Amino acid sequence: MQGKIIVLSAPSGSGKSTIIKQIIDDEALRLGFSVSATSRKPRGQEQHGKDYYFITDEEFLRRIDAGDFVEWEEVYAGTHYGTLASEVERVTGSGRNLIMDIDVKGGVNVKKRYADRALAIFIMPPSLETLSERLHSRATDSEEVIQRRLAKAEYEISFAPHYDMVVVNDDLATAVEQVRKAILRFISE
Ligand code: ADP
Ligand code: 5GP
Repeated sequence: MQGKIIVLSAPSGSGKSTIIKQIIDDEALRLGFSVSATSRKPRGQEQHGKDYYFITDEEFLRRIDAGDFVEWEEVYAGTHYGTLASEVERVTGSGRNLIMDIDVKGGVNVKKRYADRALAIFIMPPSLETLSERLHSRATDSEEVIQRRLAKAEYEISFAPHYDMVVVNDDLATAVEQVRKAILRFISE
């Protein structure tokens, strides 16, 4: 049986990656992470093929032309991110449920494309102040990059009503449990 598709979107720094890390190995959910392609450089401990497929912008544009992506966006000026069709096939073909960490436009497009086969979850930060604190304490981006990400957050939050559900990531354990339960319900339908 083909796996289902779970989309998680949120302004950068809201805790999407943290939440995904806590549920990815839960065997009741049978998840497989969708490794996106990106033209940004790796940060921190990120690994090619695990966190992202890190490719050059030229390679990215070539693969857009070749029709290799299910969806792609220029999330930040000059930086592309996208989901490869081969990645969707790799994970759902093995019967696992694909979990995607993608931006708001990509998330809405995936929901439109896969409709009832996809569950779209929006992770909401408790406030913009908290978001700023988290981006600073993560200490992986320059001040300029942090300011760019914060400037985009309000725009991204305006997409929340298009998602199937919104989870506020205030207390981490509570948010993880809400996401876990929603996925469990969805994959049992
Ligand atoms: P995203 O993947 O959405 O960009 P991250 O998962 O990297 O965000 O989280 C950003 C930062 O906030 C990280 O340093 C993470 O440890 C921290 N964080 C995530 N969720 C919470 C929470 N509920 N309370 C406090 N800090 C959190
Ligand atoms: P980051 O640089 O923090 O890893 O990711 C920046 C943004 O790009 C996040 O909002 C993340 O969800 C989004 N993103 C990551 N992969 C994809 C993808 O394959 N497609 C789209 N549309 N967005 C993505």
